[in-house]
Amino acid sequence: MQPTSDSLHLGNYLGALLNWVQLQDEFDAYYFVADLHALTVPTDPAVLRHRTRVTAAQFIAGGVDPLRSAVFCQSHVTEHAELGWVMNCLTAEGEARRMTQFKDKVAKGHNANVGLLTYPMLMAADILMYDAVYVPVGEDQRQHLEITRDLAERFNTRYAADTLVVPQPYILKGSAKIMDLTDPNAKMSGSTSPDKGLILLSDPDARIAKKIRSAVTDTEAEVRFDPETKAGISNLLVIHSALSGTPIPELEARFAGQGYGVFKNEVAAVVVEAVTPFRTRMSELLDDPAELDRLIAMGADRAREVAQATMARVRAAVGLLPAARL
Ligand code: AMP
Repeated sequence: MQPTSDSLHLGNYLGALLNWVQLQDEFDAYYFVADLHALTVPTDPAVLRHRTRVTAAQFIAGGVDPLRSAVFCQSHVTEHAELGWVMNCLTAEGEARRMTQFKDKVAKGHNANVGLLTYPMLMAADILMYDAVYVPVGEDQRQHLEITRDLAERFNTRYAADTLVVPQPYILKGSAKIMDLTDPNAKMSGSTSPDKGLILLSDPDARIAKKIRSAVTDTEAEVRFDPETKAGISNLLVIHSALSGTPIPELEARFAGQGYGVFKNEVAAVVVEAVTPFRTRMSELLDDPAELDRLIAMGADRAREVAQATMARVRAAVGLLPAARL
């Protein structure tokens, strides 16, 4: 995840972070704050530094265990930029220009720099660096994973078979997609949703409750899951169910005939209950930046070990002269 906002939101938490937490039971996982990717959008340096710490603290506060999974900053493992360069040199210019996300951003008038154009090549490096077998991605990242697979295969064919592991998408089953509270047909998004449409994990309780109470619903009074005609209520049901573990049909039955006010109050209570311990842990981590930086350094050390081994294979395969040791 990129450190592009002051806090992750409920969509990041339910759609990504909770899955990351579960995946660490089964896999050897690497989770980093994509600070090099964040440079594709000009940001004040002090703000970027702050947001990078916040994002790492939020990974850990959300349950990623820095003793089990590598939690680090992308820029601390400088091999990412190096392998990204090799990937750039394997990519045709037209191929990069055809990526949907780049085309969309340009079409929307985004003042794109070359970093944004080559973003998928750096992302390929991020993945291939760790011999990743699986990459947990949402639908929106499928095309970028496809080019990563193409680049790995191209590299292995052009230079040396089996140098890079060709990864597979790990499309998460049943992972929640959370919608904007003010426009339940649009995804909750840190970059496009208005503040009232977003629940930030750093929001105080009263703010969370207020945002949920003013969430856009419909003119009926029935708490029923129907994303087509009742997008707002369905979104609140998804949020409640994901956090409380109560199946949606059970929630529909419990709130039958009770009206939206009662339902919204309970959704707010469930969100506040989940976010409170998260916020406490996040504050503890941010109050002790030296300890947080130590945890991040530990993750980077672990990641660097794998990254250096990958780069040694890559350097040898492409024919870069090994530097003599003095
Ligand atoms: P982004 O903030 O769009 O870069 O996304 C970071 C991660 O959070 C990605 O894994 C996204 O798939 C996930 N994510 C972002 N917004 C939502 C949302 N509204 N619902 C579910 N997952 C989301």
